[in-house]
This record gives sequence, C-alpha cells and structure tokens, in this order.
Amino acid sequence: MEATETQFAQQILAWYQLHGRKSLPWQHNRTPYRVWLSEVMLQQTQVTTVIPYFERFTARFPTLTDLANADIDDVLHLWTGLGYYARGRNLHKCAQVIRDQHGGEFPTDIETVMSLPGIGRSTAGAILSLSLDQPHAILDGNVKRVLSRHHGIEGWYGVKAVENKLWQAAIANTPSHQVQPYNQAMMDMGAMICSRSKPKCEICPVAATCVAFTDNRIGELPGKKPKKEKPAKRALLLILLHEGKVFLQKRPPAGIWGGLWCLPQFDDEVSLERYLAKLTLAAEPETLNGFRHTFSHYHLDIEPVVALLAAKPIEVQENQSDWFTLGEPFNVGLAAATEKLLAQL
Ligand code: SF4
Repeated sequence: MEATETQFAQQILAWYQLHGRKSLPWQHNRTPYRVWLSEVMLQQTQVTTVIPYFERFTARFPTLTDLANADIDDVLHLWTGLGYYARGRNLHKCAQVIRDQHGGEFPTDIETVMSLPGIGRSTAGAILSLSLDQPHAILDGNVKRVLSRHHGIEGWYGVKAVENKLWQAAIANTPSHQVQPYNQAMMDMGAMICSRSKPKCEICPVAATCVAFTDNRIGELPGKKPKKEKPAKRALLLILLHEGKVFLQKRPPAGIWGGLWCLPQFDDEVSLERYLAKLTLAAEPETLNGFRHTFSHYHLDIEPVVALLAAKPIEVQENQSDWFTLGEPFNVGLAAATEKLLAQL
C-alpha cells in the first residue's frame, strides 16, 4: 500500500468531502457486522432498495449471534424481494461459522475474513476498511468501472489478467490513511458520477487525467464480456401438400413459436421417416434449400422437406392442426419460418 496519497486519491477524497454519501444507515455505528450486511445486500442491488431491508434486518437481528441463532426461514423471509437468495443463505451460514469458530466476534484479519463463506477479497477489504479503517483496497463493480475508464485498462474484467491490472491500480491508489472515506468515495463515484451509461464527466473530479474521457473512449471502457457463440440446432420442416392445401399444426402455448401455426417439425431424419411411413405419398419427398432462423439463445438451421400426398389421411384435431388452402389468406398466426416457406410455394 502506498504511504502517500496519489493525486487521484486526493481528488477523490476532496470530492467525497463535498458530495459523497455520509449518512447511509450502515455508516452509523460502523461495525464489521453491519458493514458486512450492507455489503452483501448491496451486491447487484441499489442503495435505495437496500436501505429499508437493512433497517428491518438489523432491527430483527441486532447482533451477529442473533442472526446465527435465527431460523433460516426467518432470514429468508426478511430477504424476500431482495433477490439472489443464495446471498441470504450464505449470510446465515457465515454468521453460524463466526458464532461457532470465532466466538461470535467478526474476525478483523483480512485472510480470515476472506475464508468465510460468501466473502471475496473485495468484500473483505470493504468490511475492514469501512468499519475499522484498515488499509485494504476494494474492487467492486463500481470501482472496476471507474479505474478501467480512468486508467484506460482495456479488456473484460472477467479475464484474470485484466482483473489483476485493476487490482494493481486499486492498490496503488488506496491511501494508507483515510481509507474509509476513500473506499466509500470510490463506490459513490461509480454509482453517482462514473455510471455505466451517461457518466457525468463534466462534474467528475478526475476528468482531467481520465483516459476514457480524454480519448473519447467511454463507450469502449470497461471492455464488454465477449458474446457467447450461440449454439445451432437442426429442424426438418415438412411441407405436406395435397390438392392445393398444406398441412399445419398449432404449437403448444409455451416454447418457441408458442401458439402459432407451423409446418410439422422434426429433429432428425429418423423421426421424419417414421412419420412419412404412415402416409401415402404421391412421389419421393424432396429436400429444398435450407436457411438459418435465429432466436435469442440459439440458431435453428431449417431444412425444408416437401412431400406430395396421394391421399389425405391426416386426422385434423380441432384447434391443433388443419389443412389450409394455398393462395388464400391463412387468418391464423404463422411461425416466422413457416410463413417464409409458404410464401415460396
Ligand atoms: S471523466 Fe468520466 S469516464 Fe472518466 S472517471 Fe470521470 S466520470 Fe468516469
């Protein structure tokens, strides 16, 4: 940890004195227990949402031992609405570990705090710096964003090398004194000034030295998580024709194309052959040119097969399947891929 404050830290601290948050409920009576509760609640949740939960929680469980001795159902009941219930379960489990292994006293040594369930390096640093002013750096989502923009640290922070660079920057800038206001200031900066979209650079205390601002790269920094390649699935769509009519089925309400009318769909040739074997065909089925239809989570590679029927043996189940006259309006909702294929007939 640097013994002197960097210029960055000085500017952040000066800004905090004027604009930072100093009256949040967990900033009064700052104990590791209360700061820990607030830190866990604040993960993926905004301050304004957390405040009433924090107040109810600390009124019901004023001490760590009260929480450890509570019934998990009571804990989760008070958590209802905060989401991410694993956090509530971990909180309870962690309180029991502290009760059983640390005599009910929240540990004050960073390594021990980091070994507790659900507490990572940044949360451990936040608990000990915000409650006891211990000189530990933090690197939560807000701090990552501020540092990656200000220092021009490229890449997605899910990548270890990028995360390491961010930790180096966090440690280099965390002062050895006034750590509590500095860490709180960094969280406030991320939430209030250097927000994800539309950061308020015009009133930012470190704009003059900010790489993202100077180089006009705010949209690029921090680096985005690489998009996952969507998986591809196959679907054989059967165009069954008989005397100028085409056979369609209605999809179940849930799932893709829910409630829409669609050509009979098969996952592979075997199931298609099995279906065709029950019909009287006028000619060999023919495979048409395929195309790709993309859903939000996967691609569907569609292979159309057209078959001409000599007779019309398919039972029509009311509201589930029907024959439709080609060239006339269908008057039903058609699945996109079916509509595309029918338009080509
Ligand atoms: S100048 Fe803008 S992008 Fe840079 S740290 Fe400040 S708010 Fe963030």
